[in-house]
Amino acid sequence: MKKKSLVLLLALSMIFTFVLGACGGGSDESSSDSDTLKVVTEATFAPFESTQDGDETIVGFDPDMMAAIAEDQGLKLEWVNMEFDSLIPALQSDQGDIICAGMNKLAGDRAEKVDFGDTYFESELMLLVTADSDLAGIDAVTSDMKLASQIGTTGGDMVQEMKDEGKIADGVVLNQWTDCYLQLKNGEVQGVVVDKPVGEAYLKSHGDEAKFAGDPFGDHEEFAFAVQKGNTELLEKLNTGLANIKANGTYDELVDKWFS
Ligand code: GLN
Repeated sequence: MKKKSLVLLLALSMIFTFVLGACGGGSDESSSDSDTLKVVTEATFAPFESTQDGDETIVGFDPDMMAAIAEDQGLKLEWVNMEFDSLIPALQSDQGDIICAGMNKLAGDRAEKVDFGDTYFESELMLLVTADSDLAGIDAVTSDMKLASQIGTTGGDMVQEMKDEGKIADGVVLNQWTDCYLQLKNGEVQGVVVDKPVGEAYLKSHGDEAKFAGDPFGDHEEFAFAVQKGNTELLEKLNTGLANIKANGTYDELVDKWFS
């Protein structure tokens, strides 16, 4: 008899625990998760976003700008690092809430897939070459040359287009900008097509081994954050926050901090 009541007690306690869990009676961790917005980025794009050697913390203009916007608008953010060409699919599959990655809102069909906010930075493409290169610029590239850039980006699309048109021998598209720079350094490619402010940041620490060749080219770029299609409420908050940090001088302080 005693054994039967013990088994019954155990069964009842298991059922109670299960019911408690199913009704959300567990930890309040899930509620904090639902309040926190996931910002997705690709963190080899210094000074917009990068990670320090061995440390996964993402630093740069974008995290600082978004932190200021979040404070202004009472938002909680967490950052997730992934490949650039996964960013838009992440929002489309509800794996992220915001893209902030130096993404050009004018490129291709991006604006059909996500909703971009107001422009927070303007840019253009440049050709990065080795310091001893005599390549005059993008228009001087010959069909025996190889150019590298990052997959899924405006630069990546350009080098692939040049390859398809027979203007270069190969358009090497890689997941990380750091790998593009390495290919240049190792002589695997004769140039890297990169966003001007990012190339400038690279040259600050590698000016002895690389330089820009020629003038800016490609389409004028407008960097903006993006939200899932239709999330106008969040987009309005982000745009309002951006306007406020521009009005109170925080934006200019961050530009000085990361681009001076
Ligand atoms: N500005 C380029 C684009 O939008 C590159 C962005 C990046 O590499 N993070 O495609």
